[in-house]
Amino acid sequence: MQRDLKKKRAFIAGVGDDQGFGFAIAKALYEEGADVYLGVWTPIYKIFMNSWNAGKFDQARTCKNGELFSFIKAYPMDALYDTMETVPQSVRENKRYAHENHYAIKELSEEVTRDAGTIDILIHSLANAPEVKKPLLDTSREGYLSALSSSSYSLISLVQHFAPKMPKNSAILSLSYIASKRAIPKYGGGMSSAKAALESDVRTLAYEIGKKWGQRINCISAGPLRSRAAKAIGMIDDMILYARNNAPLEKDLDAKEVAEAAVFLVSPLSSAITGVTLFVDNGLHAMGIAEDSASLQKTPSAIGS
Ligand code: NAD
Repeated sequence: MQRDLKKKRAFIAGVGDDQGFGFAIAKALYEEGADVYLGVWTPIYKIFMNSWNAGKFDQARTCKNGELFSFIKAYPMDALYDTMETVPQSVRENKRYAHENHYAIKELSEEVTRDAGTIDILIHSLANAPEVKKPLLDTSREGYLSALSSSSYSLISLVQHFAPKMPKNSAILSLSYIASKRAIPKYGGGMSSAKAALESDVRTLAYEIGKKWGQRINCISAGPLRSRAAKAIGMIDDMILYARNNAPLEKDLDAKEVAEAAVFLVSPLSSAITGVTLFVDNGLHAMGIAEDSASLQKTPSAIGS
């Protein structure tokens, strides 16, 4: 079966190192023949480029055929800002931003389109919540709105600026988490609300860009992965252990498995799929009970071991 991504141009927003889903998806798209362009959060852009050039990601960059995954160009971006005019002076003057001047989504989309021609595949793999460690009950309005702005509205803004320049049959993909639908203790600061909004927006955008331009947008709800963003939340190792002990498939999720599902969702193999949030989590979402709960220890497992 042909996934047919040869010479497709993919822009992946939200790659900051070799640990996260964005990197894995970018590499998988490259391995399928796509030309890859990356969006790197402005404050870590230099660090990312220095690490890349120093060979720190070489092991993770190694493809199945031994070749090193490479991108055409990486761009500094900040998904909090739609146009450079809206960037506050304090941010412009910040030493991590001062040398860049095209990192808002409008200017970014113009640069990428100028360099790449058109983009056929757009990946949104970014999220941030300044108060993620606070329960929703203690989250400030400012913290909540910031989570929604960088984690959810960022997708709408990317679609607003990229999709009109993308051809028919282009595909867009975002990344979500089950906290959109179920209460996940310690996933705070409005991040659960941001993921609920994100999944809802994927459905509405699927309708709008499908009707308007014949394009598709989907979402992957991924299981826990030890990425930089997840480590910042502070309980990722426990979540990985919980998933291993309680998901139908008793193994840790590999970012590659999410990347392979992503390749499917942006390829012609899924040409009739849009507006979907697909769980890629070893089946954890299907469970209604935690088998390793101390309360169940006297109950023999229904399926043995
Ligand atoms: P990651 O750290 O690799 O990716 C998050 C990226 O977002 C980082 O590169 C960061 O620099 C970038 N970012 C943050 N704020 C930004 C901004 N304002 N503008 C531009 N970029 C910004 O971590 P990840 O876990 O791979 O996260 C990717 C996506 O996957 C996120 O949407 C996350 O919520 C989702 N996800 C992660 C998990 C998990 O367990 N790691 C599970 C389900 C879903």
